[in-house]
Amino acid sequence: MGLMLPSPHAQHAAPRSPMRGPALPIGVAVTAIGILISIASAPIASSSAVEEMPEPVAVVQVPTVKVGATIAADPCADPTVLQSLSSGDDAATVAGFGGGENFRAAVVAGNAPCISLTDPARLWVVVNKSLPLNPPEYEPAGLDSVPLQMTTRSGLVRSDVAAAVGQMADAAAAAGAGRIGANNGYRSYGLQAANYDNFVRTLGQTDADAGSARPGHSEHQTGLALDVVACDAACGGLDGFGGTGQSEWVAANAWEFGFIVRYEDVGTPVTGYAPEPWHLRYVGVDLAAAYRSGGYRTLEEFFGLPAAPDYTH
Ligand SMILES: [Zn+2]
Repeated sequence: MGLMLPSPHAQHAAPRSPMRGPALPIGVAVTAIGILISIASAPIASSSAVEEMPEPVAVVQVPTVKVGATIAADPCADPTVLQSLSSGDDAATVAGFGGGENFRAAVVAGNAPCISLTDPARLWVVVNKSLPLNPPEYEPAGLDSVPLQMTTRSGLVRSDVAAAVGQMADAAAAAGAGRIGANNGYRSYGLQAANYDNFVRTLGQTDADAGSARPGHSEHQTGLALDVVACDAACGGLDGFGGTGQSEWVAANAWEFGFIVRYEDVGTPVTGYAPEPWHLRYVGVDLAAAYRSGGYRTLEEFFGLPAAPDYTH
């Protein structure tokens, strides 16, 4: 089944020219260190002899090479990046920045003016209580059926998300973690409004806001999010997902397929949502890998955005 897995690190293998830049200075430095070592180990060498050695120029220069800064020089002026942006190839855009972590760092540093975190068609869009969809009634293009057993009729997501979640569920089953189904994928503005209003009627507004987005504020409206459930003899509900083998597997492995668990327990003060181990947000493999390796727990922290626990209007 390994052949069915995507290759999450493929883009990490892309050439990172700045990494090759310091090759010569490092080589010189190694040579200089070699000289130091050979002198130090020579019978007549003393510590004072080593201290009297003029400091090799190359050794001084190497630490001044800032690899990250070199990569992020001006990616928004790179014709390849601009082409990827205009064609909607978000994975290629992230790769053009030098991968997920470099993309993140450039955005946080304000060094990526061509990247909008509020463009609802992008893998890097952030939707929260402070950042509504723009336009509020945005509808994603290219919706496709979630290739999993559904427990509601909201069984659409973006086609790239559908493919990724299908691969993820296959891998979970192959790993013996059990079958994964889905509850909700894409929800339109109108459906979100109906859902939210229903929660307000039954729970009151405070509890509704802790568990349901107001219309125009839901990741589900982007087509990039879906809620998964554990399907054993039968599919369970959302509240039953946490603690299942499927949930543990998803928490550990969903990133390899481009998903993050968007609302973790520790994220509540930032997101304003109670934990939702079932709510997966697709950001693409490169950004999900950077999110994972950086130990981030909310998308807001990942992109250096302020916490958004409450609506501002
Ligand atoms: Zn959800």
